[in-house]
Amino acid sequence: MENKIKNKKIYFVIIIIIISITTIGIIKINNKQVEIIQLAQIEDRQSMGYLIKTKNNKLIAIDGGLKENTQNLINQINENGGIVDYWFLTHLHDDHLGAFVEIIKNTNIQINNIYVSLNDLSWYEQYESSRIDFTKEVFKTLENEKIKENVHQPELNEIIQIDGIKAEILGIKNPEITENAGNEQSMVIKFDTGKTSFLVLGDTGTQSSEKLIKTQKEKLKSDIVQVAHHGQAGATEELYKIINPQICLWPTPTWLWNNDAGSGENTGEWKTFETRKWLENLNVEKNYIGKDGNQVIEVK
Ligand SMILES: [Zn+2]
Repeated sequence: MENKIKNKKIYFVIIIIIISITTIGIIKINNKQVEIIQLAQIEDRQSMGYLIKTKNNKLIAIDGGLKENTQNLINQINENGGIVDYWFLTHLHDDHLGAFVEIIKNTNIQINNIYVSLNDLSWYEQYESSRIDFTKEVFKTLENEKIKENVHQPELNEIIQIDGIKAEILGIKNPEITENAGNEQSMVIKFDTGKTSFLVLGDTGTQSSEKLIKTQKEKLKSDIVQVAHHGQAGATEELYKIINPQICLWPTPTWLWNNDAGSGENTGEWKTFETRKWLENLNVEKNYIGKDGNQVIEVK
């Protein structure tokens, strides 16, 4: 009799343990979140790099930064599974793609898909001649045997589904814009988890801002925005008003955040304070600034 009661007690305890473990497991699964990682700035030059880790640990990269940012980027990729499922390249400048070129050249990191919007090389020779050496290096890199089959040029408004995240291409190359030409070719991508949206502007400038407003107005509102052109002389105030973000990600080093070329705060010639004011006026709740190191933003 006593033994039977003892057995019942043991069964009861075992059942409680099983229920507890299962419940904790479910809570953990439900807690899985999407993470946006803003990569740290080195201080001598501005740069831009982001990673997005999806709920099931797929990794999306956006640009990556200068050659000098390469080791940090490699470390972050390795800490997040070591494989890049999608890599979006906004435009062909070395403060965005320097690290990407180094990674293709010197590592065997697996990259499954690369999205980039390219003009013919002759276009860059004509309108971006001062940067032509690096542009040629990017063209050569995209022809590398390791990746060339995985390079795609997206259509405008193309939608790419990545583990529950919708990536919509709102802007591609703008070959008709030949002033501030390289920056104005920036691919614009809106990532949407269904609960949170994140708009990547690259180095979008005045004319491509106007084009976006004209062609994509109803799609631009986003919870999170990457502030264009490192926060200085990039997108227009009108564009930010339409995006109306709660959170701003700034790919911006200290000197640029402070507009300080060495003579003190806001004495430089950059337009960072103007952009900061515009976004303050929109009641942005939080700014993440690249000067503060690698930052992880958890989103629903
Ligand atoms: Zn840039």
